[in-house]
Amino acid sequence: MADAKIIDGKALAQDLRAQVARSVAELKQRHGLTPGIAVVLVGEDPASRIYVRNKAKQAVAAGMASFVHKLGADTTQADLLALIDRLNADKQVHGILVQLPLPDQIAADAVIQAIDPAKDVDGFHAINTGKLIIGLPALAPCTPVGCVMLAKHALGELSGAHAVVVGRSNIVGKPLAQLLLRENCTLTICHSRTRDLAAVTALGDILIAAAGQPEMVKGGWIKPGACVIDVGINRVEDAAGNTKLVGDVDFAQALKVAGSITPVPGGVGPMTIACLLRNTLRAARAIAGLEQEQ
Ligand code: NAD
Repeated sequence: MADAKIIDGKALAQDLRAQVARSVAELKQRHGLTPGIAVVLVGEDPASRIYVRNKAKQAVAAGMASFVHKLGADTTQADLLALIDRLNADKQVHGILVQLPLPDQIAADAVIQAIDPAKDVDGFHAINTGKLIIGLPALAPCTPVGCVMLAKHALGELSGAHAVVVGRSNIVGKPLAQLLLRENCTLTICHSRTRDLAAVTALGDILIAAAGQPEMVKGGWIKPGACVIDVGINRVEDAAGNTKLVGDVDFAQALKVAGSITPVPGGVGPMTIACLLRNTLRAARAIAGLEQEQ
């Protein structure tokens, strides 16, 4: 069998960002409206700092306004909630993103639920989660939206396909399941208590791994010809002691079995940021009372 086709998330994300940038330019010209995103970072987590920098940079590159708020690691929950209140009221801000994880003294859920659902570009607010489940227009979480776009890019139509998702987090697994149901997939969700995981994953025409377990999914876990979307981002040490990024899928093995597969890095990651920009554009349009473009 030929090697799996590698799904180029970088290129697809670039196309999506370009599409968002064109829409932003048109929004400015026709309606005098510049979508703005506020990105809030609390503490010094090195990975979070990189994510925040990239998000702000990409927003500006798409023609948006970006407002970065860096707060100290000892910030209180009350101080953070006061900032969220100000951002909720700020007319220049259409999207609010609080980079997770937050320090221990702050309850992430209290902060997420304090964000105006209309500005919840991460799509984590209970209102958006509920709308997603009952099929109303909602700001949906960026990584799951990106996963569905990648699968559609590889397969075209998803309707009727059996999708197996490994992971049931509120950020990835659960919203992804809802989005796949919207695409009329038959759905199986696996998690850390699933029995005989390898046998279940091998049923998937689409297999999406979001468990945070380095290279857990082996070649034998994959249905021959399946579309494999690897959400995992795991930092591991190679034989020479250097840190490298790997996904939740054993890429070398999967390449021999799958029909198509996303690489790590360069698969789901770039799509997440592009979908964040898309959500910010959608939030700005909705707040201004404009129809969505697609
Ligand atoms: P999480 O830890 O919140 O959830 C992991 C889920 O996987 C849980 O539901 C758990 O039940 C399941 N799981 C854990 N170990 C398992 C096992 N051995 N077998 C079966 N199921 C198992 O993680 P998360 O926030 O959903 O993220 C998952 C992965 O995706 C992480 O590697 C994270 O870094 C990555 N991630 C990537 C992006 C991106 O943009 N590419 C975005 C978000 C998360």
